[in-house]
Amino acid sequence: MEITKHFFFNLSLLIIILFFVLVWADKSSKFRFSKGCSLFWFLFMMWICFQFSYQPDPHYFYDLRMIIVIIGGLYAGIGPLMAVAVILMRGFYGIEPGFYTNIFLYFPLGIILWRMYPWFWRQAARKRIRVAVLMATIISVLTVITMEISIPPQNRFDAWFAYLVIPPLGVGMISYLIEFAKRNLDIRENMVRTEKLEAVEQMGAAISHEIRNPLTAAIGFVQLLQEQKLTPRKRQEYLTIVKSELESAEQVIQNYLTFSKPSLDKIEEINVKKELMQVINILKPTANQNSVEINSDFALLGSIEGDRQKFHQCFLNIIKNAIEAMPRGGQLYIETQYSSSHITIEIKDTGIGMTKEQLQRLGEPYYSTKGSKGTGLGMMVVFSIVRAMQGSVKVQSELNKGTVFTFSFPSYTPALKKNEA
Ligand code: ADP
Ligand code: MG
Repeated sequence: MEITKHFFFNLSLLIIILFFVLVWADKSSKFRFSKGCSLFWFLFMMWICFQFSYQPDPHYFYDLRMIIVIIGGLYAGIGPLMAVAVILMRGFYGIEPGFYTNIFLYFPLGIILWRMYPWFWRQAARKRIRVAVLMATIISVLTVITMEISIPPQNRFDAWFAYLVIPPLGVGMISYLIEFAKRNLDIRENMVRTEKLEAVEQMGAAISHEIRNPLTAAIGFVQLLQEQKLTPRKRQEYLTIVKSELESAEQVIQNYLTFSKPSLDKIEEINVKKELMQVINILKPTANQNSVEINSDFALLGSIEGDRQKFHQCFLNIIKNAIEAMPRGGQLYIETQYSSSHITIEIKDTGIGMTKEQLQRLGEPYYSTKGSKGTGLGMMVVFSIVRAMQGSVKVQSELNKGTVFTFSFPSYTPALKKNEA
């Protein structure tokens, strides 16, 4: 039973390789194999088959190359390539009767598999396995017949048994494994998709709610404004309210847009000091209202690369939170530090701080401790912007003492850019 033994050995090698391929595919970030990648693995497995084929004398090559051709042809659609590879590899060992039987067998097989490929993938998984096993059985029978006609083996029973049992078994096992792995990937992909959809739905609902509130308020005041007998002072007051309500609706939309599209629209050089000063100017009135004193200490130098609008939004959200964390006033410190590799931005407040649990949930969508006043979108947006700009954030917070946000972004060095170009 030498041939049978070798076939089992050959099969275990193939399954070991397949195991590693599947583990690797599972770990790698992309879910699907490209054609080139599968071609490489199939060629490698075929080479292994040839390397470990059983050769009682120079004219005989007993191995499981047919498994590779069938699986490659059916599952990867590379039947003709596999057939050519088999014929070439076999030719390498000598142009003799065995070589011609290979051409006779594998050339048509490659074409048939190629033809079958689209049909094959339209079938259900279970049927695919059955078809693959059936193909293996047919090729096995054909191999035995051509073997009998061209070069009858010495040990007939062994050869027959080996060819009629092991290739169909091997094809069955391998296709089952592939289907199993594929189903797992499908389930995983599906899960990600439904999760995303759910997030979008939830978001949509929350957003429309968040936007409806300020809009309703604004509409109410616009109706009041329509009345003729309003004093100019009242009119001015209503207009201010309408404006602030509309602004808050706009903020919600802005946050939502940034979150759903965290990639940067425009990459430009951002002068950290200049942009932070602008943000501070925007928020100065709010800070004054809350008796918050803003202390800034900026490094003279320092630029980073990113989207200016998003940079603004990120720090607008952070500084707004800091101000809101100090309802009875306090100190807000904004500092930047520059090094040739990184720029650090520190935003520190002396506000209410956060508990461990709150800190952990920071950045979760809709996580807010501000009741109807909060949206719980701000921090989520901050994190996604920082990620898109290749930065990092560290948060330290102590209840009733205050919170420190430390951002770090890679420095932008134009000279370096020019050298690269
Ligand atoms: P919102 O401000 O609408 O509540 P955010 O996503 O901006 O939503 O913030 C989420 C939560 O994180 C806030 O409700 C607050 O509890 C907490 N938080 C954020 N920044 C600070 C801070 N500087 N100090 C204390 N708590 C903060
Ligand atoms: Mg906020």
